[in-house]
Amino acid sequence: MNPFPDIELSGAKLSAVPGPASAGGEGESHRDLQRDDFWREVPGYAGVSALEFRSHLFQQRNAVTNVRQLREVVGNRVPDSFYEDVAAGLAHAPMALRISPYLLALVDWSDPVPDQIRTQFLPLRSRQVPDHPMLRFDSLNEQEDSPVPGVTHRYRDKALFLPLDSCPVYCRFCTRSYAVGGDVEAAPEKLRLHANHARWEKAFEYIQSRPELEDIVVSGGDTFNLKPEHLKAIGDRLLGMPNVRRLRIATKGLCVLPQKILTDEAWLDALTHVVESSRRMHKDVAVHTHFNHPREITGITEDAMARLTERGILVRCQTVLQRGVNDEPRVMQLHVRRLGYVNVHPYYVYFHDMVPGVEDLRTTLGAGLALEKWVRGHTAGFNTPAFVVDTLGGGGKRDAHSFEQYNPATGIAVFTSPGVKPGRKFLYFDPLSALDPEHQWRWSQPGERRAMVEEALGGDA
Ligand SMILES: *Cc1c(COP(=O)(O)O)cnc(C)c1O
Ligand code: SF4
Repeated sequence: MNPFPDIELSGAKLSAVPGPASAGGEGESHRDLQRDDFWREVPGYAGVSALEFRSHLFQQRNAVTNVRQLREVVGNRVPDSFYEDVAAGLAHAPMALRISPYLLALVDWSDPVPDQIRTQFLPLRSRQVPDHPMLRFDSLNEQEDSPVPGVTHRYRDKALFLPLDSCPVYCRFCTRSYAVGGDVEAAPEKLRLHANHARWEKAFEYIQSRPELEDIVVSGGDTFNLKPEHLKAIGDRLLGMPNVRRLRIATKGLCVLPQKILTDEAWLDALTHVVESSRRMHKDVAVHTHFNHPREITGITEDAMARLTERGILVRCQTVLQRGVNDEPRVMQLHVRRLGYVNVHPYYVYFHDMVPGVEDLRTTLGAGLALEKWVRGHTAGFNTPAFVVDTLGGGGKRDAHSFEQYNPATGIAVFTSPGVKPGRKFLYFDPLSALDPEHQWRWSQPGERRAMVEEALGGDA
């Protein structure tokens, strides 16, 4: 039953979440983490032992990066047409293909098209829809607020530092597809942010020269791909600055390659070193990670989180709201409770950024606001994420409820951001597929388009 018939729900199916039949967000299904040898159902991994599958080296060495390898691993579990659909999807995607055996094995290969893990990592041409007309590459203007390459300084006391542009896997929906995810046909000549000491030094000099900067997000790319000695050096250098009080080490690795926490002792020790140094200096370091669906949280995740918890390392999670992945109330409830169960604090649920090639994944502002009501009150307040919109044009993140104006007919939401850029208005747009035919037509006409935006901005576009 659609619990809010006036809002479009996608096909995110609860049945795809392992757990007893009562897994309706009621009951305790959030504790039922997958612990069997689930990967053995994938032909290419049928002979892989638990010891091997739990090794980060196995996961890294066997990452699938092209359709030929995908075919070798998944074999005849899916028809040829599926591989053709992926190949055609990749030709139009802004990100290269890279997926770990762990994630591949979490896909339900008996029905891969609606599968929530497939949806996030393997593009299908048959599912792609045209980008929104207001979309631009680097929709968040990260490069405009970038004083030196690899630093984004938009808010007063906090900045992003991007030490590298590679990740252990590539997500279809990456916000940083302007730099991350390799040059591909649909997005050639990306900004290069190689791990490079001379570039890092320029970033450090900038951060040190700005006394107001207290909070640095070390992101990427993904810090899982930093060598242990580099992670340590970056942590030590930043914590050594008197102005820097807080670091966040950002990695999606806990979700896509939790094996690294189990078997890459040097990397875990480097992280622990940074966290322990910060404590001695009375500063604060936390890991920020990124899970989107409850099925991504397995027994292996729980074991990895146990190691981090033993070392006193705090982990927060940012989730991206995605149509067909986690936009169903009971799926998001289960997700939030399961994160809490393994000691990951849900921090944000982001409305999907307007990035190229993933328009099929975006939801409307209205649908996300309705979803938030189902999540809040379900568990501890400190384990309840804030639903935020990163507005177009560099207005920054805003509480989704704080819009100045929202017209579900045109799909235009207007935000202000007085603490960041006073006196300006910032926009966010619902996906056109959610609008009625008349408004879809208006968006197809440049004059109508301008009129709708001007009307939303109250004449001062
Ligand atoms: C998201 C972001 C931050 C961190 O914001 P929080 O709301 O504190 O998590 C900092 N700088 C930029 C440019 C960002 O996009
Ligand atoms: S891990 Fe993060 S930075 Fe890397 S591709 Fe995924 S979303 Fe982008």
